[in-house]
Amino acid sequence: MTDTDSTGTHSTGMVAGGVATRLYVDAPLQAGAELALDRDRAHYLKQVLRLGPGDAVGLFNGRDGEWRARIEEVARRGVRLRAEALTRPQAPDADLWLVFAPIKRQRIDLVAEKASELGAAAIWPVFTERTAMTRVNLERLRANAIEAAEQTERLSVPEIREPVTLGELAHRWPKERRLLLCAEAGDARPIASVLQEILRERGEAIGPAAILVGPEGGFASAELDALSKLPFVTAVGLGPRILRADTAAVAALACWQAIVGDGARRPPQR
Ligand code: SAH
Repeated sequence: MTDTDSTGTHSTGMVAGGVATRLYVDAPLQAGAELALDRDRAHYLKQVLRLGPGDAVGLFNGRDGEWRARIEEVARRGVRLRAEALTRPQAPDADLWLVFAPIKRQRIDLVAEKASELGAAAIWPVFTERTAMTRVNLERLRANAIEAAEQTERLSVPEIREPVTLGELAHRWPKERRLLLCAEAGDARPIASVLQEILRERGEAIGPAAILVGPEGGFASAELDALSKLPFVTAVGLGPRILRADTAAVAALACWQAIVGDGARRPPQR
């Protein structure tokens, strides 16, 4: 089990109440609630973390805050836990989605992980003209997003949305959600100026937003033109270098959080 290290700072993964492991669960959490973990998670707790009856773990489900739970039984088929006490109340997340064109395996894993770490509320794959991938493994995206959420002290996990084409995306887009189009070509204002302007106009009430990143092959110019005409779209630039799609996603999410998101808040202090 991790513990306070010699520099006095806590090792990653510590949750309130000195519990080292945080797990995402689906079930409701309340005092006394009994929970069962599936075989994979049971294996992780038993064999990887070497936890057993009496040990505590942190649980969160995206709705009920973070709970300290005690392992009651470790059996071959699963692990039974009981929620004991609320260690952190649920706090609202930034309402920020990441919409991105699927890229190859390791890079898409990285996008899911980093988007989760950077507090994205949803991850939405979109197929564009030059997207090289033809399918996305949503389960894998979800597993990566959950694992990152568990490690990152957030109390929710990003929703993984069903992939759509760019045309469908534009058609189905919730109009009140601002879409920042990361545009490597054409007219685009620097992302920081756009975000500072939003902050000046909206103050605390930033409202729902999303970041859209294109595939490794970039957006087709017709796509950029069509997107730029949509009333909820603002094209933004990330500087003079052409970034890889995964880098662009991370950079844009980080800028958003730093300027209009929760960048001023601190991790929970133990
Ligand atoms: N192959 C393309 C580059 C695509 S980069 C070309 O050479 O033009 C992949 C995606 O990352 C882009 O579609 C865009 O959404 C984003 N991106 C990369 N660099 C960017 C930049 N400097 N500004 C804004 N978006 C950028």
